[in-house]
Order: sequence, then structure tokens, then C-alpha cells
Amino acid sequence: MAFAAPRKRLGQHFLTDRHVLARIADALAPSATETVVEIGPGRGALTEMLVARAARVAAIELDRLLAAALRQRYDGDPRVTVIEGDVLDISLSQAAGATKYVVAGNVPYYITTPILFHTLRPPRPTRTVLLVQREVAERVVSAPGSEAYGALSANVQALARPEIVGQVSAGAFTPRPSVDSSILRLSPLASPVVTDDEQPRFSEFVIAAFGARRKQMRRVLRTVWGIPADEAERVLEKAQVSLAARPEVVTPEQFATIWRQLECAP
Ligand code: SAM
Repeated sequence: MAFAAPRKRLGQHFLTDRHVLARIADALAPSATETVVEIGPGRGALTEMLVARAARVAAIELDRLLAAALRQRYDGDPRVTVIEGDVLDISLSQAAGATKYVVAGNVPYYITTPILFHTLRPPRPTRTVLLVQREVAERVVSAPGSEAYGALSANVQALARPEIVGQVSAGAFTPRPSVDSSILRLSPLASPVVTDDEQPRFSEFVIAAFGARRKQMRRVLRTVWGIPADEAERVLEKAQVSLAARPEVVTPEQFATIWRQLECAP
């Protein structure tokens, strides 16, 4: 099939290496009874691998022409539903037509972070496998105390266990992107560090704390929450965080213990 030229604005870098496509599908390992929501199917290379393994695929594509071509290709096949639209405006569980589903995608890199958090909204997929920029994947999986650990790491790790399960070089795509990529798998935690209700406010707090990442936590709490030094010390002690610690060593659980005390304070 002849396709229009790739649209850079939509992050269109198509995977042409079947070996890489198989590695993404293997990392997701959908069972023959599972529904996969695919983000950004493009020309359908990954879709084809997913259809061969899963019960159903619901593919969400923003590009009108690509969505139409995919719909035509799977016309009459009850296993595939093509949804034209912006993935960030579409509920993934509604796209799946079920609360139990999995997610896969070689995602458009201009919206990687919003897509990551979109896949972590309830009802969450059982697991998610995304091809993302290597630098983003490394930040997501970084442990407290490491250089890349930041708000993205703490906010994702409060909800899911992230792992890098493979590396993909720029040469696997057409056109070639300017960065290398990693296959990132997210497995939502059975007991998340924060509840669905708490998550948006917790996330804002963590982002604000890392906005002052060079400051000691005692000062961070004063800057971000405006509380006096003695109160900040009490809060940090309860969370077992040293007064001189900086945000980059605070675990998601410790951030939650700190934040709950601040929220509950009169
Ligand atoms: N999955 C295909 C592959 O591996 O060859 C295409 C991947 S390409 C990196 C990303 C795809 O996401 C493109 O087809 C692009 O049109 C689509 N896309 C871009 N922005 C989108 C959005 N907001 N919602 C849904 N799809 C989007």
C-alpha cells in the first residue's frame, strides 16, 4: 500500500524492523483472551503482530489518512477496531470496551510523558509496553539517589513498577529519529503509594519539590508549603527523611508520608 510522506509534527517514525516489533509484542505478551489498546498504530506494523497474539486490538490513531488506511485493511475483521482521535482525549478502558486490558505502542515522542500518565489513569491496564526515548525511559526507572531520579520517576513509581526490557537503535525506524529508544514496561502496583483521589495533588507536590531539587528538604517544605522550620523538621522525622536530604534521595513512599502530613495540617 502507498502511504503519504511521514508527518514530523505527529512524531511519525515508523518501525520497519520486524525483529524489534516482535520484541515489543513479546514484552507485552498478550494472552489469546486479552484486548490490547494500541497507541499510534501508524501504518499498522505493530498492529499486525498484536492481532496475531491477542483476542482484540483497539488502535487509536490521530492521523486521518493512516486511520482510514488501517480501517480499510481490517474491514470486516471483528478483532480490530480503529479509533480516529487524540489518545489523550480518549479513555483507554472505554477504547478497550472493558476494565481489563493491556496497552502497547511505539508512541509519538512529542507527548511521551502525558501518554505515560494517561496509561496510569484508573481503571489502569494490567500492563503497558511502550517504545519511548531512551533518556525518558532511564528517568522513569531511576532509583532514589541516582542522578536521573526526579519527579517523573517518583510519580510513575508511586503507581507502577517500571522496567526497561530492551534497547532499540534509531536505525530501526523510517525516518530515523535523532534519539535512541527503549522498550519500557509498566506493571501497575497492586497497592499504589497514593490513591486515585490523592494522585493529582501528590503529583503536583512532587513536581514542586523537584523544582527546588538543590535545596535541603527542610528548605523545600518551607518554599513549597510555607511551613516554619520546626514544623518541617517534625514532618521529615516522621517520614524518616534526614533534615539535610535533598529531593533526589526521597522515595515515593516518603514523599507520600510527608505530603499527607502537610495536607492534613490545620
Ligand atoms: N506504531 C507505528 C510504528 O511503530 O511504525 C507508528 C509509530 S509513530 C512513532 C507514532 C504514531 O502516533 C503515528 O502514526 C502518529 O500519527 C500517531 N500519533 C501522533 N500523535 C497522536 C495522538 N495524539 N494520538 C494518537 N496517535 C497519535
